[in-house]
Amino acid sequence: AIPLVVAINTSLAAQNGMLIRDRIAMEQARELDTIIFDKTGTLTKGEQGIVDVETVEDIDEDEALSLAAAVEGDSEHMIAQAVREAANERSLDAPAATGFEALKGRGVRATVDGATIHVGGPNLLSHLDMDVPPELTAFAERAGEDAQTVVYLLRDEMPVAAFALADVVREESYQVVDALHELGIEVAMLTGDSEDVANAVADDLGIDTVFAEVLPEDKDKKVTELQEQGKFVAMVGDGVNDAPALTRADIGIAIGSGTDVAVQSADIILVQNNPLDVVRLVKLSRASYRKMK
Ligand code: ADP
Ligand code: MG
Repeated sequence: AIPLVVAINTSLAAQNGMLIRDRIAMEQARELDTIIFDKTGTLTKGEQGIVDVETVEDIDEDEALSLAAAVEGDSEHMIAQAVREAANERSLDAPAATGFEALKGRGVRATVDGATIHVGGPNLLSHLDMDVPPELTAFAERAGEDAQTVVYLLRDEMPVAAFALADVVREESYQVVDALHELGIEVAMLTGDSEDVANAVADDLGIDTVFAEVLPEDKDKKVTELQEQGKFVAMVGDGVNDAPALTRADIGIAIGSGTDVAVQSADIILVQNNPLDVVRLVKLSRASYRKMK
């Protein structure tokens, strides 16, 4: 038989929009000493919009945006949506693209008019080991200071434009970090985004540990790093990219309209897409299992 406390606990959890896939995880949540959050879409709203464009001399903003929109045509990434929206707002027609390929955690690639076009972030540039023209570097530095995400447009592996995207920190995230600190829990953030943006968000929120420019295949290693320091770690994320880290964590928590992959890798699913539910979860676990003793 299921012990009564556990039964109460899971139904209480369900009432709070928490789906418990692993009951042990619910019990162990009271022991967490570190919680790692995915940045984009978890601590931030993830509703990015393009706020600025910079190009090198031989291409103009509209050309750059329509090329980018063509290459992002098949991508479901939030950045892709923002690029397509910006092109739409300017009523730009996207040229035909072929051979679309998603480069996980880096960007996208396709062929347009015989040229290879990439759109992607700093991880893409380091992957291709590429020099960035000074005007785009200056643009990226300014955007970084404002905590804006920068992605580059590459034509035949030459960066020719950059786009700055603004995202906003969710109001609840401030409370989450404060409340977890009060519970004696350290807060870490894990993102594929640039150091600049990650540090700006982390400073703003008072986050203790930051892992930035992390490739999807390396996200779980950051969890291991903390575990090797003796931490009992939960990971909170929503994306396909977060799945290995969710699996690796002592407790994996999928949040919101998380992708199927994230949901299947998680021990606990927070249905309401509210990061404050992470705090509720720890409190519920502590309260329930204290009663049991
Ligand atoms: P996060 O870790 O913040 O959830 P991802 O792992 O999905 O982000 O992506 C990491 C980085 O890879 C993004 O910040 C961006 O620089 C780049 N990137 C990923 N997908 C795309 C895309 N479709 N278009 C442009 N850049 C992308
Ligand atoms: Mg994400």
